[in-house]
Amino acid sequence: MDETKFGHRDRREHYIPNKRVGYPPVFVWPVQPINALKWVFSIPGYFMPWNVFYVILGLVAWVWFSPALENFSSPSFETVSLVFLRNAGLVGAYFGAFHLRLYIQRRQDINFKFNPAWPQKDANKFMFGSQTVDNIILTFGSGVTIWTGVEIGILYLAANGFLILVSPIDQPIYFFVMIFTVHLWRDLHFYLVHRLIHCDPLYRLAHNVHHKNTNPGPWSGLAMHPVEHLLYFSCAFIYLLFPFHPAFIVIALVHAGLSPAPGHAGFERVVLQDGRAVDLDCYAHYLHHKYFECNYADGILPLDKWFGTFHDGSADSHKKMLDRLKGNRIKKT
Ligand SMILES: [Zn+2]
Ligand SMILES: [Zn+2]
Repeated sequence: MDETKFGHRDRREHYIPNKRVGYPPVFVWPVQPINALKWVFSIPGYFMPWNVFYVILGLVAWVWFSPALENFSSPSFETVSLVFLRNAGLVGAYFGAFHLRLYIQRRQDINFKFNPAWPQKDANKFMFGSQTVDNIILTFGSGVTIWTGVEIGILYLAANGFLILVSPIDQPIYFFVMIFTVHLWRDLHFYLVHRLIHCDPLYRLAHNVHHKNTNPGPWSGLAMHPVEHLLYFSCAFIYLLFPFHPAFIVIALVHAGLSPAPGHAGFERVVLQDGRAVDLDCYAHYLHHKYFECNYADGILPLDKWFGTFHDGSADSHKKMLDRLKGNRIKKT
């Protein structure tokens, strides 16, 4: 599959998709109920493929790869290690698969790659000079550790009777609604946290670590400062407020822990062997890494449209962003 059918390269050889960043016809005015319903059940749509994929992975992680809830009432070294190793295994396999195919084997070279350059190997801003090594150290050293800590902390509360537990057998509709709204809640939470950490002193203290990756690769997804990891994985805390099942937080944390890999892949599409391709839908967030002050949201809620920070990839959108930033600078002086 050739990228020239789907986009073009600018003077600096950066790939620009023809497809504009867009949102599903759900949160639009006037409302479009038929189109919204069609989108919910179409492929790609609300459920398929990504939402269902992360929900299934989270359920499998809880049912087959977690110690039983009672083990968290006083977590032993073994319980903590098992949860850490499971999370590290998921991250290693998932992020590693994107990196292996696109950046080590370079199966499609720079076909569909937004920025033609490969990750830096000799840049002072990264640990050991290497973007990939730096990103991997932050991902496991801080990201997986804090994910595991949040998970064990919440399950400790559940195991010690501080939360009202529900069973999917007794309340299947409630259970279904809770696990399939994780995606929506995460979109909103990500936006709120992201706006917050773009303000000083949080930006200088924490978020600039993630933004060192102006040309992100899969491992950049969870390459964050520990303070940002804590805020990022705090999406799971909302489930303390509702009748609780451990699957809710495991799914939310699996979603938060894994979805940044395709979101930072740096490629619009992954080309498969049979000539088909999977659209990673990551151009909006790539533009955020490139320009910093646009597309703070990343998902299906059109929050950037509502708050005037949307960049759809077009020249017109780009001009609007530059005008907005110029206006902000004038206001500050
Ligand atoms: Zn990012
Ligand atoms: Zn940012």
